[in-house]
Amino acid sequence: MDGGSAANAGRDLRPTDAPPLDGSAPFDLIVVGAGINGAAVAREAALSGLRVLLLDRGDLGAGTSSASSRLIHGGLRYLEYAEIGLVYESLAERERLLRTAPHLVEPLELCIPFYAGARRRPWQIRFGLTLYDLLSAGLSAGKSVPNHSSLSRAELLARLPGLRADGLVGGASYFDAQARYPERLVLENVRDAVEHGARLMTYTQVTRIRVEGGRVTGVDWRAADGATGSAAAALVVNAAGPWVDEVLGPIKHTRLIGGTKGSHLIAAQFPNAPRSGVYVEAGSDGRPLFILPWNGLVLVGTTDERYDGDASAATIDRTELEYLAGETERVFPAAAGLAGRALYTQTGVRPLPHRPKGKEGAITRRHLIRRHRSAAGLYSIVGGKLTTHRALAEDVLRVLRRRHLPRLARTSPTRDRPLPGALGAAERDALLEQVGARLGAAQARRLWHVYGAASGRIARLAERPGLDRPLRGAGSVLVAELVHALEHEWAKTLADILQRRCMAGLDASFGLGVAATAAAELERLGLWDRARAAEELGRYRELAARHGAGRLA
Ligand SMILES: Cc1cc2nc3c(=O)[nH]c(=O)nc-3n(C[C@H](O)[C@H](O)[C@H](O)COP(=O)(O)OP(=O)(O)OC[C@H]3O[C@@H](n4cnc5c(N)ncnc54)[C@H](O)[C@@H]3O)c2cc1C
Repeated sequence: MDGGSAANAGRDLRPTDAPPLDGSAPFDLIVVGAGINGAAVAREAALSGLRVLLLDRGDLGAGTSSASSRLIHGGLRYLEYAEIGLVYESLAERERLLRTAPHLVEPLELCIPFYAGARRRPWQIRFGLTLYDLLSAGLSAGKSVPNHSSLSRAELLARLPGLRADGLVGGASYFDAQARYPERLVLENVRDAVEHGARLMTYTQVTRIRVEGGRVTGVDWRAADGATGSAAAALVVNAAGPWVDEVLGPIKHTRLIGGTKGSHLIAAQFPNAPRSGVYVEAGSDGRPLFILPWNGLVLVGTTDERYDGDASAATIDRTELEYLAGETERVFPAAAGLAGRALYTQTGVRPLPHRPKGKEGAITRRHLIRRHRSAAGLYSIVGGKLTTHRALAEDVLRVLRRRHLPRLARTSPTRDRPLPGALGAAERDALLEQVGARLGAAQARRLWHVYGAASGRIARLAERPGLDRPLRGAGSVLVAELVHALEHEWAKTLADILQRRCMAGLDASFGLGVAATAAAELERLGLWDRARAAEELGRYRELAARHGAGRLA
């Protein structure tokens, strides 16, 4: 296929009725930040019939939302802090996501080993798990995962043969869910918003929130290419995650965010690595730790420490790496030497409410919607979880309706609405068969878990000459997916494509095994010139180095 035809492929995502960006006609709502929360708010608002502008200074989901532990969970831990409401809401959202995004969110079994001398006694954990079951039993949405079960020492060792037996007295198993790629959850929220008229501008930084006469009137922005402009709206939601205070700039407010840094270590599976998730109390400080099967690898996390630095520059430090590796080795002796064998790491800053004192783990994970009295119509989002993004968006719209938009419908349009990539079982099977007939069954399954219903479009794109072959080194990622990312999914850089679209960037090499080929293919297709391809590759390698990747390059 020549570059020209690739460049003309797919023009299906252009908004039709959004106001122009010269500030001459107002939007109903401007959302700052396209992480999971901003994306969900934009979706909720667009589906409610509002004219929405969504801006991000980088790519969709490239902030905290791509640095989470990737769990869609009720949060068993929060029961220790009596956060019953948060757990109930999270369990309800977990259930919804299992139904509305079955290609992206799947049930995950987690085992909890009980060791003699641990801070949390077996009866306390069993009590928590029973409460967890009771809370999920009461959900109006129903419950699709099994209740917890107690396990004897022998049963647990049979399930987790690599587990340290010394001091083990028994255990339990329960279910939550995992979003292998939360990056794609963000994208599908944005897609639904855009398909309902929202306008999206990535790589466009909000430089000022405009306030006149005590009311918010819009935002000023600056794009990565230097272009500047403004957009008008009487309502602005600041969903900039750990950067919420920075976005507010000179607007009078007390500090909202007190971020805590959390890091993960990603490694190849060690001998007898667990097939289910393992939730264990750290021996050194009693904090709960997850050791999770993820994407064919093992993901260990997380740490939780107050962080006042630049959230964009947060990276794992030596102490965190050794803590995560040491605690894994304590329960899985075959993981010995894990710190030295980490493939890469991921670090994010939780946008939690500012609480200068007390234990980090005790800071609420509930979301708060802050109204700014000095700028009527301006709201900032504090806290929240990946799991509860839809509920947060519903709450934001409820606040906007109560205070500003009384005529807006009262029912939430997203409550039971499948994400754009979701399909029912029969339609999914038909799609898998159709894509499988062209590209093979394994490829069809992989595409389904990345793109859902859009895998049909990838398969059609792959019919074009030159787009049907896999990228060298990536196993099965197709050249067609690179084109799809640029033309149908708002990707702009190599990192956007590999890390947040085709997901090859989350393989064992952090995508370094394919980065050069991908850049070369885009140059061959005429989508990038030689200088651009080289620049993108250089930037991608820098990103990988910041994540500690590179040994496999
Ligand atoms: C280590 C860790 C583990 C976690 N694990 C889980 C988990 O397993 N399950 C779970 O449910 N939750 C988890 N969370 C919480 C969850 O990840 C976050 O609460 C959530 O991702 C926050 O999303 P957000 O959209 O508010 O922020 P972000 O994803 O950070 O998005 C904010 C966006 O604002 C943009 N922005 C900033 N400034 C500007 C500007 N001036 N103009 C335009 N755009 C701007 C940024 O570029 C960014 O894209 C975890 C968090 C961390 C850190």
